[in-house]
Amino acid sequence: MNNFSYTRADDVAAAVRAMSAEQTAKFIAGGTNLLDLMKENVARPSRLIDITRLPLHTIEETAAGGLRLGALVTNADTAYHAQVEARYPLLSAAILAGASPQLRNMATNGGNLLQRTRCYYFYDAAVPCNKREPGAGCPARDGYNRIHAILGTSDQCIATHPSDMCVALAALEAVVHVTGKNGGRAIPFADFHRLPGDTPHRDTSLQADELVTAIELPARGFADHYTYLKIRDRQSYAFALVSVAAALDMDGDHIREARLALGGVAHKPWRDTDAEALLSGKGATPENFQRAAAVLTRGARGFGHNNFKIELAQRVVVRALQLAVAMK
Ligand SMILES: Cc1cc2nc3c(=O)[nH]c(=O)nc-3n(C[C@H](O)[C@H](O)[C@H](O)COP(=O)(O)OP(=O)(O)OC[C@H]3O[C@@H](n4cnc5c(N)ncnc54)[C@H](O)[C@@H]3O)c2cc1C
Ligand code: SF4
Repeated sequence: MNNFSYTRADDVAAAVRAMSAEQTAKFIAGGTNLLDLMKENVARPSRLIDITRLPLHTIEETAAGGLRLGALVTNADTAYHAQVEARYPLLSAAILAGASPQLRNMATNGGNLLQRTRCYYFYDAAVPCNKREPGAGCPARDGYNRIHAILGTSDQCIATHPSDMCVALAALEAVVHVTGKNGGRAIPFADFHRLPGDTPHRDTSLQADELVTAIELPARGFADHYTYLKIRDRQSYAFALVSVAAALDMDGDHIREARLALGGVAHKPWRDTDAEALLSGKGATPENFQRAAAVLTRGARGFGHNNFKIELAQRVVVRALQLAVAMK
């Protein structure tokens, strides 16, 4: 057992100050990921800075007509919030496809964004892993890599980001609000998570002292035509092998605008605006959906056990688009 200290922060400024003073500390929110990592000896923070009492527990309308989701609102309260259900049902569906009711009651929005990969080797402190220890190696590339990435991989790491919520947030073009010792900034969702490159130990563009305070949803929620389709080994309590968030703005039988994001296939939710552009102004036909799926997965590469994900992702995109069109 590693010793660590514990501090409870009363306001955002105090939380940021505490983190700036001790960068080997970690914020703790619901604890559903961090505590597991500490028990497995993967995370060894010198201090836990408890942020659960910070005033980040509300969901509010924004001046731009969207919604601001506090970082400490639980995943359950977000998914069942009346405005989220009515205006952003894609987000509700994605959250409810994840974890279990008990976990969603504890897990927070900020923590969901910052949860770490489920790569088996990352969780096993007895084997090397570049994400845990830069330069140590990546046993997943030649090992058992059924759950691993097919897009955006590097020689250093082929891990995936495990969140369902983030796939919907990527499609909805959410914005992440953060505060650090140099003040606040807003990060477009596409820039929040990173590809592994040569620095796979860094999952996001967040600076070490920065706290996520809120997630902002733009006004458009694509509530009339959407699907979150998650393919996994069990129907509940399992992470996605492949998932798709599909959102459409329809004009009769034609697509005015499409949004597509893939989960379970890359180090971040995977979007390719060329695939979306290919659908705009087009008919909702299987051929057009197949073309968009091919563009979205272009450059995909399997590592042996996960080769099946390439065709699976293409099929799931087509199916998700069909389901989104079929909605009333
Ligand atoms: C058995 C199991 C099954 C699961 N299945 C799924 C699934 O199918 N789909 C899915 O999407 N998720 C799944 N999860 C993951 C779950 O959604 C996450 O563990 C949860 O969202 C993390 O939120 P938390 O508040 O508990 O974070 P914590 O564990 O408290 O923190 C996680 C990380 O985020 C950091 N952090 C937390 N809040 C902030 C903040 N505001 N600012 C900066 N840093 C912060 C912490 O320092 C830590 O590094 C599963 C988890 C478990 C244990
Ligand atoms: S895929 Fe990434 S997280 Fe998994 S063993 Fe390789 S470096 Fe570590």
